Amino acid sequence: MKKRSLGFSFIITGICLASSVLAAEKAQWGYSGPEGPEHWGELDPQFTVCSTGKNQSPVDLTGMVESELPPIVFNYQSGDNEILNNGHTIQVNYNLANTIRVDGQEFELKQFHFHSPSENTIEGQSFPMEAHFVHIDKGGNIAVVALLYKQGEPNVELEKSWALMPENSGDKKAIPRSISANTLLPKIRDYYRFSGSLTTPPCTEGVLWLVMKNFNTASKEQIEKFSHTMHHPNNRPVQPLNGRLVLK
Ligand SMILES: [Zn+2]
Repeated sequence: MKKRSLGFSFIITGICLASSVLAAEKAQWGYSGPEGPEHWGELDPQFTVCSTGKNQSPVDLTGMVESELPPIVFNYQSGDNEILNNGHTIQVNYNLANTIRVDGQEFELKQFHFHSPSENTIEGQSFPMEAHFVHIDKGGNIAVVALLYKQGEPNVELEKSWALMPENSGDKKAIPRSISANTLLPKIRDYYRFSGSLTTPPCTEGVLWLVMKNFNTASKEQIEKFSHTMHHPNNRPVQPLNGRLVLK
């Protein structure tokens, strides 16, 4: 019964957020050693698909198939939110109506968070950082917009979040109205599309992945600030495509 009532929260928070309530329900996991990605499937019966799944993320995007992908319709706005360090990532939570429309379906933005180095790679190329914008629709379906960062010019919009980055696991801070997820995304939003999973336990499949073709930049200092705060790389290794198509 308890499990059923928490089901929706699991889906929303599953990608990277382990809230205190949920952490008590599930096994500890990490990015190295006995709790590392190669062991996730054995750590908890709820994580089995991490090792048995055939549609896992991240992936190396390769062999892209030409396709007439319609534009994603973004409806993002500024609003109050919070930034937290959950030990696995730095995450900004949203509770306002920020939405995207894909395939005529509306998905609401729940949070965005970061990985360094990148989780997805493009034709074998890894990037120093990747952002995931996690959305969910009324039916519980998840869509993630992924953005890759190259090292380069300091990123002014990213700095608004970075300036508030909580240093210790479990810390969170309120964010004033000035941060819109909109300003973090590139202006041109062409994308690659494929079906995948959450990249953290429970590795739930059926996630719609929308990876921006255009990169953003972050300075060496900005990338290092994130990796120093995390104390470790927080990227799951790429998973086999197993015949999945990556559309472009
Ligand atoms: Zn992620």
